[in-house]
Amino acid sequence: MVQRLRQQPDMDERVLQSMAQVPRHRFVESALVNQAYADTSLPIGWGQTISKPSVVARMLSLLIHGRTSTLGRVLEVGTGCGYQAAVLAGLARHVASVERIQGLYALAKRQLSESGVRNANVVFGDGMRGYRPSAPYDGIVAAAGGEDIPQAWLDQLALGGRLVAPCTSPSGGQSLVVIEHTVTGFTRQQLEAVQFVPLKSGLVS
Ligand code: SAH
Repeated sequence: MVQRLRQQPDMDERVLQSMAQVPRHRFVESALVNQAYADTSLPIGWGQTISKPSVVARMLSLLIHGRTSTLGRVLEVGTGCGYQAAVLAGLARHVASVERIQGLYALAKRQLSESGVRNANVVFGDGMRGYRPSAPYDGIVAAAGGEDIPQAWLDQLALGGRLVAPCTSPSGGQSLVVIEHTVTGFTRQQLEAVQFVPLKSGLVS
């Protein structure tokens, strides 16, 4: 899987190395294990999906692009089954990952603990509010897309930090947005079209 991803443009080698350490098959249902290393999203229950490996690699490459030191604290919105959180844990000192569906929260917490990931804290909550206790973040990455970027995420992004998230674009589709917090304010870049599950407010227990 990682060899194939390496052939795609703009992939950060550190991300690929971290992906090589995370057994993706452990994060998918047993009936889907034979598809775990294909470049496809897969159902994880509760109507949600585990992101495609190439999408995880792209998002995280954008997050650490140009950085020479390890990321400090990172926030992930939308833990799902915990796969991307496990990859992030290999790239950052601390990961806070928020999930709004209690069943997935519990699943991800178990998977990460069984995979020996010690520096990721899975939180049951509404990620649209970010997660204030671990803020500010050097990086914020969202695995679900909304109409706009929630203000709480900008408020919790450290100076020099970067946010990567899918967001509804002016033309109506969804595209990747990269926001940087600089001394002069926030810069916003809109990149390629993407297809993520919707960012929803409130909890499902
Ligand atoms: N990173 C995951 C992808 C999961 S799909 C992985 O590696 O598999 C996106 C997830 O975002 C879903 O589990 C969905 O429940 C969650 N989500 C959507 N809106 C959310 C919100 N406001 N707060 C927290 N999680 C949210």
